[in-house]
This record gives sequence, structure tokens and C-alpha cells, in this order.
Amino acid sequence: MNQNGISSLWELSSSGRRGVVIPRSDVPAAELDDKYIRKDAADLPEVSELDLIRHYTRLSTLNYSIDTRFYPLGSCTMKYNPRVNEQTARMAGFAASHPYLPESMAQGNLELMHELQKDLAELAGFKAVSLQPAAGAHGELAGVLMIKKYHESRGDTGRTRFLIPDSAHGTNPASVAMAGFEAVEVSSDDRGNIDLARLKELCDESIAGIMITNPNTLGLFEEQIIDVISTVHACGGLVYGDGANFNAIMGVVKPGDLGFDVMHYNLHKTFSTPHGGGGPGAGPVAAADSLKDYLPGPLVGRSDNGSFTFVQPAKSIGRLKAFNGNFGVLVRAYTYILSLGGNGLKAASESAVLAANYLLSRVKDVLPSWYDRICMHEFVSSGQSLGEGVHTMDLAKRLIDYGFHPPTVYFPLIVPEALMVEPTETESIEILDAFAETLRVIVKESQDQPELLHDAPHRETVSRLDEVMAVKKPVLRDIGRI
Ligand SMILES: *Cc1c(COP(=O)(O)O)cnc(C)c1O
Repeated sequence: MNQNGISSLWELSSSGRRGVVIPRSDVPAAELDDKYIRKDAADLPEVSELDLIRHYTRLSTLNYSIDTRFYPLGSCTMKYNPRVNEQTARMAGFAASHPYLPESMAQGNLELMHELQKDLAELAGFKAVSLQPAAGAHGELAGVLMIKKYHESRGDTGRTRFLIPDSAHGTNPASVAMAGFEAVEVSSDDRGNIDLARLKELCDESIAGIMITNPNTLGLFEEQIIDVISTVHACGGLVYGDGANFNAIMGVVKPGDLGFDVMHYNLHKTFSTPHGGGGPGAGPVAAADSLKDYLPGPLVGRSDNGSFTFVQPAKSIGRLKAFNGNFGVLVRAYTYILSLGGNGLKAASESAVLAANYLLSRVKDVLPSWYDRICMHEFVSSGQSLGEGVHTMDLAKRLIDYGFHPPTVYFPLIVPEALMVEPTETESIEILDAFAETLRVIVKESQDQPELLHDAPHRETVSRLDEVMAVKKPVLRDIGRI
């Protein structure tokens, strides 16, 4: 038994106990080479079906999820995922249709994809959408490859550099590097915007484009976005929008109208698919006139006779994903869009922004935001105001003791001791108040009893892990044996 009273299946094991009865073989035994025949019994636990069910059900309750508690993980948009999405994604016509079905037998599925392409294009003000990419980062790669092919097809081959603001998500420089560009950092100004003067210095004919997140990862709307975009266009570059923060502006601002050439959406964030466990997701990519012929294909088009069919854009960068992307995520997103409607989506964004500002106003005297501005759907504070020797990481771990998932920490990189809070639109005011109150209590603890924070969390199955190795070399043994 470990310190939380969880026994391993081996500890529960009792010789001869069985959870299954394996049916008697009704085919003749095959001859097997002696070297394949086991000499010693395998070390397997012998437990009843009930033992097994209780064991795994109990382990499953150790997972933290949005269905159990508040999950203010900045930039990740951990909002509640309505169950109606799950109902539609499980409908047999969607869930059980084989990807090799001929188009004529999959018209309903193709229609859903076609409608989703149209809705996403409309919401963000673009001409066409490809549903191929499987995640946000995959959409980024798609968009950057489109920009690359655009320049190449015009014989403009000297553009080897791609601009990335210093507040950007780590996937942004990684994506441009994967596409063969050199990432060039653009600094932020003292209001948390892209520094326009610096941008003007950097823009020349070596620049292929810029990747911009708006609102940016500081939770701030780029106040000079029109000037930023026209500056890059003026030197011949194109503008990529990282649309992971679309939850802040749905129905309010259309990035296509602002002049973005291409953008991805994180359907699993903004359009409510459960995420956080590593997938599946979807990162459709949308393009303006400038780039619509380069989209990854196939897209779903409509023929003159009204039937739906796959079409490849004229200068497509090609296919990025087997079959048609993660179709179940597309069904969830389409369900979400239809069930909220245009006004509902707008209200969701407005509530997300309101919730973040409410929370910020309740804590900013003890955890001031790094830039003193009205925020969008998230805000970034700094743990520099915590007690002597106490870091943001300690505050994050202490929150676990109070039953809250920590916010994102140490990102964006330009804010020291960063704490990035995204409450989303789906939480009640009571939850926001409880979270604010807890943050205030912890800030006070950091001054009065710093040791409480240093060792936190105190009551979990595991305490502080090596966060790098926990991902790269997970210990996948039965939990009671750890
Ligand atoms: C989540 C996120 C991404 C990457 O999206 P994935 O779907 O995780 O690949 C990129 N940029 C920002 C700002 C994000 O929050």
C-alpha cells in the first residue's frame, strides 16, 4: 500500500482468484517451437472482476479534470465541454463510418465538414478553410508551408526569415524552424504590444512573414495590429495568425478583416473538445484570397448537382493527415457552433473576457498583472510579490492543496515568475470568488509560513515530480508499486 492507501493489484492478488473465465479452445492446438513455451508462470495478479473494477475506478478518480474541478490553465482554454457534443460524435453514422467509404455513401459526413468549413471561415473572416491539421501546432506548420510555397511560386526565394514576437507560444518558433525558416524575435513594448518601431527596423526583403497571436499570450489585444500587419505586408511578407486565443474574440473581431492572410483555430480549445490528455484535437487552417489556393487538401466542395465531394486547391501544399483529420473533433465543434449560434458564440467570448477581468480585479492588489491594462480572456501576473524565497511554482503547488488546478506558470517567458490565469466563460461567480479568495490566502501564507508552500502539495498521491522526466520517461508501473 502506498501512502495514500492504494494497494497494487499484486497486493490484492489471491492465488486462484479469477476475474475472467477463458473459453475452452475450439480449434486444434498448434505446434509451437519449444523456445516459445513459457517455463515459469507469469507474475500476474490474480483478482476478481470486482477487485479490478474498484482498483481502476479508484485510480481514475486521481486524475484532475474539468469535469471535477476548476482548471484555469492559461492559454489552454480548459472550458466545460457540453455533453451534447459527445452525443452527436457518438451517432453511428458519424462514429462508425469507415474512412474508405465512397463519397456517395458518406454524403452526410461530407456535408458536416463542408458546413464547418463555411462556419469557421465566416467566424474569422476568411475565404476558405482546410480541416486537415490535427492540432494547433500542425495548423501553424501548414500555414507557414503555405507562405513558403506562395513566395517560391512567385520566384521570391530570398525570404528565409520569419518574425516571432517574444511573447509567443513555444510552438510558433518551432513551426517556422520545421518549415525551414530562421525565427527572428520581435520584442514587446512597455504596454505588452509588438514593438512597432523595432518591427519596422526588422522588416526587409529577407522576411517571409510574421506569426502573431492576438490577443497575445499576455492576454492583451494588440493595440496596433493594423499597423503591424501593414508594415509586414509593405515589405512583402505575409501574416500568420495563431488563433489559439480565438475564445476571446469570437463574433467580435474577424482576423481576416484585420488583414491576416492565414490562421489556425484550436477546435479542441475554442470549440470544446475534451483535451489535456494529449489528443485527439483539430487545428483547421483558414486562408484569405492571398493564400486560399495553397491550403492543405483535400477540402470538401459542393458540385453543381448539389453533392459533396473532395477537392484539391490549385496550388495546395498537399495532404497533412491521413483520411480527413480527426473527424470526431469536427463533429463536436460543429455541434458546439450550432447549439450556441452566432450570438451564443459572441456571448461566450464576452463572458470569458468578463470572467478574466473580474478575477483580475479581485486579486490585483496582491498579484498585480504585469501590464496594467484591461485584459482579454486571460491575464498574466507575476509571483515576484510573494514572500521572501517563495516562487510562483510554490504558489502553483499550494493551490493543489486547496483543490484547484494551478494556472500556467513561467510562460510567457518575458514575464518573470509568470502566472497565467484563464478562467473561461463556463465558471460561476462563486467558483471565481473561491479561487480569488484562495489566491489571497496563499499570498498571505507565503509571507507568514513560507515552508507550507515550499513542500506543497501535501495531500496528493505524488508530490513534486521531475516535470521533464515525467513526460519523457513516465513510470508506467502499477501505482501501488511506485
Ligand atoms: C495551445 C496553443 C498552441 C498549440 O496548440 P496545440 O493544439 O497544443 O498544438 C499554439 N499557440 C498558443 C497560443 C496556444 O495556446
